[in-house]
Amino acid sequence: MRFLPVFLDIKTGPVVLIGAGELLRAKLRVLAAAGARIRVHATDNNHDLSGVGADDAGRITFVNGDPLTADLTGVIAIVCAGAGDIGVAMSARARSLGLPVNVMDDLDHSSFIFPAIVDRGDVVVAVGTGGASPVVARRVREKIEALLPARIGDLAEFIGGFRKSIHAAIAEFPLRRRFWERVIDGPIGALVLAGRKAEAEAALKAVADPTAFALADKPAGQVALVGAGPGDPDLLTIKALRALQDADVVFYDELVSTEILDRIRRDTARIPVGRRVGKSGIGQDAINKLMIEAAQSGQRVVRLKGGDPFVFGRGGEEVEALRAAGVAYSIVPGITAGLGAAADFEVPLTYRHEALRITFLTAHKARDAETVDWSTLTDTRMTVVVYMGMTAAPAVREGLLAAGRSPETPVGVFARVTRPDAQGAIGPLADLPELVKRLDGGPAILIIGDVVRHAGAFRHQSPRQIISELLEAAQ
Ligand code: SAH
Repeated sequence: MRFLPVFLDIKTGPVVLIGAGELLRAKLRVLAAAGARIRVHATDNNHDLSGVGADDAGRITFVNGDPLTADLTGVIAIVCAGAGDIGVAMSARARSLGLPVNVMDDLDHSSFIFPAIVDRGDVVVAVGTGGASPVVARRVREKIEALLPARIGDLAEFIGGFRKSIHAAIAEFPLRRRFWERVIDGPIGALVLAGRKAEAEAALKAVADPTAFALADKPAGQVALVGAGPGDPDLLTIKALRALQDADVVFYDELVSTEILDRIRRDTARIPVGRRVGKSGIGQDAINKLMIEAAQSGQRVVRLKGGDPFVFGRGGEEVEALRAAGVAYSIVPGITAGLGAAADFEVPLTYRHEALRITFLTAHKARDAETVDWSTLTDTRMTVVVYMGMTAAPAVREGLLAAGRSPETPVGVFARVTRPDAQGAIGPLADLPELVKRLDGGPAILIIGDVVRHAGAFRHQSPRQIISELLEAAQ
């Protein structure tokens, strides 16, 4: 390690900035945003302050004298950006005075360098490569950006606001640390990260005995209802991934792919609770009971559901059960199968002038299909997306035809979307049951409407296997 990362209080004295052009202005913006007082020697005489906040501009002065002879009393650092030879000379002067100096892109003449920064308010991460490769540092920063909750800075600020009172209440340092770990890892921390600061504050203030809270056997548990998306693990949201990494136990549906289960932390318990067509699962009440018991025993529970938890996923019922039990919960949306199919097979669900509405419906069994009021689905400018529609395909066809939708209406049956073995069959509504039969099993989703004509296979060789002769034959 050539450079020790430290955090400098930039407000303790003026910084001298020397240089020209965009390089100078970029450094000006960084220093100004950090709250620095800046004396600028702009060798190109450009005093443009665009991109600098109005509050920060008041701390900037442009000076005309020669920086090599200027008075540096009280100056805390020197930064040269686009300064040419002056940078080298300025570096020598700074060193003779024992002042920290940075000459941009010139390690030999710099005694400090600027890291890539992740800035989340009170939480700041600095990434450096010892000057070897700023591009690598930026890539590392991007990865950290993705990993850190957006409101991690709020969490630090929140804790900062209570530090003094908790310090007064708990004298011993280890116990105090335990107290904060409980807060951060428990429902209060989750509330802050969810942007519900007032509730978090109320909950922390309601802790009557901080020592007992710190010593309690287990912190209160919580449940995250997480949408796993349609199968491709890269379609998990960053939040979903974080929940999977933090969980003590994951209750998952059959539809959740093994690639996604692979993203769960290794020592986390995984419990299948789903049902599949033809096979019954443990039942909704039993699932609710398991989740609630696990949370009440202090565990961080993830209820992992295919697609989105609130789209034909019974997430609503689970939330009601959690509310009734007084268990803290959060909901992480996922990409629903209909949207996965649309992207995977390049079927735009809306299309200017052609499709102005979308209806998502389920037709799990023929009986469900009979209860659907098909007369509301005859608008030719409406795209209909049918979940669980494989076995009910004949009833879907009958219902739509009887209501008056054209037998030529294009339909797509898309199976295992976003997975490596995804498969689709496209044809006219009249042939829907045959299309379903041509696929090697589900889960599959139906998309019905003129937009299906735009599917990838009609324009180029799709990466997905599409069986489309039926529509071609009908045309
Ligand atoms: N909550 C889920 C839907 C659950 S209902 C979501 O938002 O996607 C189960 C139905 O979803 C299946 O019968 C099928 O119609 C559809 N489905 C789920 N995953 C799918 C996939 N990878 N490919 C095609 N359809 C899928």
